[in-house]
Amino acid sequence: MSNQDWSFQTKLLHNGAKVDKATGAVSVPIQHASTFHQFDFDEYGKYDYARSGNPTREALEEAIAELEGGTRGMAFASGMAAISTAFMLLSQGDHVVVTEDVYGGTFRIITDVLTKFGIEHTFVDMTNVAEVAAAIRPNTKVIYMETPSNPLLKVTDIPAIVSLAKQHGCLTFLDNTFLTPELQRPLELGVDVVLHSATKFLAGHSDVLAGLAVTKDVELGNQLYKLQNAFGAVLGVQDAWLVLRGLKTLHVRLKQSQESAQKLAQFLSKHEKVAEVYYPGLPSHAGYEIQNNQADGPGAVLSFKLADADAVRTVVNNVKLPVFAVSLGAVESILSYPAKMSHAAMPAEEREKRGISDGLLRLSVGLENVDDLIKDLDVALNKLPELKSLQNINK
Ligand SMILES: *Cc1c(COP(=O)(O)O)cnc(C)c1O
Repeated sequence: MSNQDWSFQTKLLHNGAKVDKATGAVSVPIQHASTFHQFDFDEYGKYDYARSGNPTREALEEAIAELEGGTRGMAFASGMAAISTAFMLLSQGDHVVVTEDVYGGTFRIITDVLTKFGIEHTFVDMTNVAEVAAAIRPNTKVIYMETPSNPLLKVTDIPAIVSLAKQHGCLTFLDNTFLTPELQRPLELGVDVVLHSATKFLAGHSDVLAGLAVTKDVELGNQLYKLQNAFGAVLGVQDAWLVLRGLKTLHVRLKQSQESAQKLAQFLSKHEKVAEVYYPGLPSHAGYEIQNNQADGPGAVLSFKLADADAVRTVVNNVKLPVFAVSLGAVESILSYPAKMSHAAMPAEEREKRGISDGLLRLSVGLENVDDLIKDLDVALNKLPELKSLQNINK
């Protein structure tokens, strides 16, 4: 059996990083060296300086390339370092079409930084293919997707956007943080650059900041590697090791968290104190069909809407299990408040217009027993007053 034939679950363990060729160690050695001795004056070895290449980082880079079905993986100091470096593929005068509910850090790099270098952008509702088509200009070089999106879990039709991009000769980038290659492999759908905050599900334990980029096209991979080495925002070796360790349990973690998320979404959608639930695993979700067609599951993040900020405060103050924090994709459940956390910088009307109301909470489901999570949320929700006016907030 060749490595290609193993299931994704097996490949998480049976890969180049399984056994160290030199010693048989069943854990990737953490190679701290920043520089490498050259044994031969005329023929230099594979490694020379750790920014350009380091065996520990390389083990992670090869693992993610294989898992995403790419030819080249690159590890960065954070998700934002990976995303920012990928944008350096662009030049002055280029234009990017970006999903309007893009991650806040990506929003900042596009609006505050790229603009200084003469790179233009247009925000679109990426679920509306006609709107995306209308935004493409002769100088559009990249269409940037994030699906499911944050925090409303809107689903982009990846093949439709890829086909549009190919017609117009532009590249596609996709932030695959929410689903990971376990559930969605964008390169197989024709996407050019897959980006990750490995801080989230890939590493999975709220203990490391890391970013990854993966390409399939060899020449594009060479270009991005050149930028990784030039810009230098590479991942440190301890952190690379932590991500590698996290990867080994990705399948079991995500499987369990997703199963619990599905149950929680069903529980919340029947709860009388909850106005609306956003989860692509619910048949009522607008992106349900597309999600089923292009991914192997809806993931483990959901959002739900309560009446207002007071209701959110009551629930947050009364739950005992989830931590109340930014971030997602960890072994512990994480409850976040987009209006005050990820989208705090957005003016209130702009937020409301996008459906990110003061009553919206996002839940990244961890590995606690799901009945305990349901009980915990139920107790907190039942502290809320009866809300007949819920009808008015478009249930
Ligand atoms: C967290 C996150 C990022 C940024 O990653 P960092 O590792 O925090 O730099 C990018 N995209 C998404 C979808 C994220 O959730």
